[in-house]
Amino acid sequence: MQEEIKQSPSFVQVLVPRALDTAFDYAVPDGLNVSPGAYVLVPFGREIVWGVVWSMDAPEIDVHKIKPIQSVSIQPPMRDVMRRYVAWMAEYTMAPLGNCLALCMSVPKAIAPDERKRKPKTDDAHTTAIAESSVQLSDEQADAAQRLCGQLEDGFSVTLLDGITGSGKTEVYLEAVEQAMRADGQVLVLLPEIVLTAQFIARFTRRFGFEPILWHSSQTPAKRRDAWRAVANAEAKLVVGARSALFLPFSDLRLIVVDEEHETAYKQEDGVVYHGRDMAVARAQFEEIPVFLVSASPSVESIVNVQAGKYDVVHLSARYGHAQLPTMRVVDMRLEDLDAQHFLSDALKQKMAETYTRGEQSLLFLNRRGYAPLTLCRKCGYRFESPDASSWMVLHTPPHSAPYLQCHHTGYTMNLPDACPECGAEESFAACGPGVERIAEEVKECFPEANVVVMASDTMSSPKVAAETYHQIEAGEVDIIVGTQMVAKGHHFPLLTLVGVIDADLGLDAGDLRAAEKTYQLIHQVSGRAGRAEKAGQAMIQTYYPESGMMTALSNDDRDQFFIEEIERRKRAHMPPYSRLAALILSGKNDGVVKREAKRLASIAPKGKGYQVLGPAPAPMHMLRGNYRYRLLVIADRNIHMQKLITEWLAVYPLPSSVRCKIDIDPQSFM
Ligand code: ADP
Repeated sequence: MQEEIKQSPSFVQVLVPRALDTAFDYAVPDGLNVSPGAYVLVPFGREIVWGVVWSMDAPEIDVHKIKPIQSVSIQPPMRDVMRRYVAWMAEYTMAPLGNCLALCMSVPKAIAPDERKRKPKTDDAHTTAIAESSVQLSDEQADAAQRLCGQLEDGFSVTLLDGITGSGKTEVYLEAVEQAMRADGQVLVLLPEIVLTAQFIARFTRRFGFEPILWHSSQTPAKRRDAWRAVANAEAKLVVGARSALFLPFSDLRLIVVDEEHETAYKQEDGVVYHGRDMAVARAQFEEIPVFLVSASPSVESIVNVQAGKYDVVHLSARYGHAQLPTMRVVDMRLEDLDAQHFLSDALKQKMAETYTRGEQSLLFLNRRGYAPLTLCRKCGYRFESPDASSWMVLHTPPHSAPYLQCHHTGYTMNLPDACPECGAEESFAACGPGVERIAEEVKECFPEANVVVMASDTMSSPKVAAETYHQIEAGEVDIIVGTQMVAKGHHFPLLTLVGVIDADLGLDAGDLRAAEKTYQLIHQVSGRAGRAEKAGQAMIQTYYPESGMMTALSNDDRDQFFIEEIERRKRAHMPPYSRLAALILSGKNDGVVKREAKRLASIAPKGKGYQVLGPAPAPMHMLRGNYRYRLLVIADRNIHMQKLITEWLAVYPLPSSVRCKIDIDPQSFM
């Protein structure tokens, strides 16, 4: 639905995708037709950039100084609703308006005319007819699908599709996706980047008989250009993408699905800091369409919104077909007599042996890449620390090359030296703690005949390698998988019947208000990988805190109890969703200067009823990429306009240019 092209005015205001809040005046040369939202090429400082016609008011400066627009893109103008969404997002996230616009213009090549004449594509799969589903839904699934489809005609709504792993949530929401597409609308399915795998895409392709348009960060510029244009011109019916797909120029969007809605990976931490799920809900509200939030272990935020009547909920309580939920067993690691080099309990090894003998697969889960998180010298105690971040260097031992050390926060990498850099001792290094590579080594000791594969973002060097590995697992060529969160979600391995969680306590000491929730979700999710087909599954969870509320909830499969307690805890502590948070992270090269400025800012912090400012405190990641970091935290009642408060506060005393202030509204990470 394009906007009507009005008589072109002589002057317009153009917003450019740069860190600025204002649009600038430009002249419209005779003969150029310019409408609101049009993408236009303009001189900007020393650059020539594509911007968007933001308003059409009379110019405020001397008209003789106004430069002309150079050209207008043939792509459909940015719709009014999208411009309002961008403006709202800038206000909400407190990011410059131009930076929010930049999210929508991430492929300038899509907006610009083609340099070379391109062959028109004839195999436009996305315009092909939609295949009929061959799936016969169960009664429960059919009811759920009907309720979701019922939302399609009713404007804005949020529905939480809450169903246990393997209950057919995807199958169910695809019914509504199909219906929206049959009505000639466009649909966006968002996935956390990590789940956007070939396996998932193949499933969509099988279901609808055409390949959806893909959108994620590691695509080639040419693919992104084609995708952007196909979306803008409504040729693309279905887009499956990572969070940045929210900013694609849909012209007739009818439905947004946020799969794995609880995933923290939806949070964008750099540049414009935003939460993909929350921005999806906002976009649906602007577009007046439904949004489905899908999860087997929803976020506390979404559960509370359901309780408050703001969101609808649709439950799926049974696994599809004969598949049973795995039985959960907690292994008390305090009773195990393990030395510092070994990490698998007898109980787990026993189960792995039985699984292996039956010709079934085991998955061992540890959310830590590499071989060991810390390497030290036994002679002098020297520890390898990252030179550009407050963290240890993680040891990696690739099978076909020399061991190396890597900082997992900055990527800084060095070879493991032969001798200790401090005392010169040789062969004195000790690896402390496990990563997936070390677990795989122990597995091979125990099961020398088994085919073992390590799945982590660094061992799966490309999407192709990952796809091949998934294929081998599906085909039963792998006996034991050792993996990070890369394997925790989204995959369906029919032969996998045992999941072992190596360290259920990892992540609980992260000083993060959602640590328990995230750990629960991850363990619940990874356990759900077991027994998804005919064969029954089992999960073994190794912990040093077997009597904690979380372990009890996991072993009794009592999710509701866990969430009741967790929600109560948040309420008592006046933490989100019962309050709102904003973090201010000050950083700079000079530790003393940053600390002084952070203290000064705290000293002039606003004081009043319903909000308080805590800090400054050195960030847990005190130094990152050579910058020293201090954090301040605003806690406010939900009715307080936090952004206004912060804007007025920061305006009182601008920071020196050597100190950067990052604002994180609704922070997920407290590092
Ligand atoms: P979830 O998204 O809840 O984890 P899925 O939608 O992935 O569940 O379903 C789990 C498995 O069961 C998938 O292989 C799916 O194709 C299959 N499945 C679910 N419902 C049906 C159905 N009604 N008919 C056939 N297969 C189904």
